[in-house]
Amino acid sequence: MTRDDHEMGLPAGEELTELLPDSLPPLAVDIDGTLTGPDRGLDPRVMPVCRSWPSTLIVATGKSMPYPVALCEFLGRETLVIAENGGVVISGPTESIQFEGSPERAQAVVEAYRAEGYTTGWPETDLVNRWRETELAVSRESPLPPLERIADEHGLTVVDTGYAYHVKSPDVSKGNALRTLAGELGLDPEAFAAVGDSQNDVSTFEVANRAIAVGNADDAARAAADRVTAGTYGAGFLDAVHLLRESVD
Ligand SMILES: [Mg+2]
Repeated sequence: MTRDDHEMGLPAGEELTELLPDSLPPLAVDIDGTLTGPDRGLDPRVMPVCRSWPSTLIVATGKSMPYPVALCEFLGRETLVIAENGGVVISGPTESIQFEGSPERAQAVVEAYRAEGYTTGWPETDLVNRWRETELAVSRESPLPPLERIADEHGLTVVDTGYAYHVKSPDVSKGNALRTLAGELGLDPEAFAAVGDSQNDVSTFEVANRAIAVGNADDAARAAADRVTAGTYGAGFLDAVHLLRESVD
């Protein structure tokens, strides 16, 4: 099968089984910029691969909890979720949900930011933060320097996911959450492969045995990755799957 066949086709059944051997490692995968296209919609080509991943699949995202939980549900997979950049860790199989972070301080940062005349940049409905439990996100249209200054004054930090500025506790990260969730599952976090695109994936890359950045990744993710794919966004994820497949063949 050529790369083009793989990227353009939707392998199924035996063909996909051949593409995804059982020896593939457990995987921690980001959503935005990694499984999506530039328009933030899921790339449909990633769906059969994620559905059929033969090992553990953890969805690790900066998004709030309902999004990755729904993704697991619609992929027909166990709920294995790292949300809010590590602030929320959900293990469906062990019925465990853990929270790390300081929502009160994140709220205080946003209030101080507003008091200085800035806005979070979201519409009044604010579905970005509505279900957020441990951190808060601010639009990248809003100015970053005052947000970083105020966060620092409250002992928090700001991470840029490429989609929003997230005000979070400095000790909360996707990487720490991967250790927590792997431990919950009785797995070695260092056995994981990780695929991502941004600064908030660096900590995951540092924990995982194999770290692959997609071609659209920011400088921080590229620097932390073992490999950077030629393809971007969802096509980059498929390239990453090829690299992992080659490494276990
Ligand atoms: Mg991302």
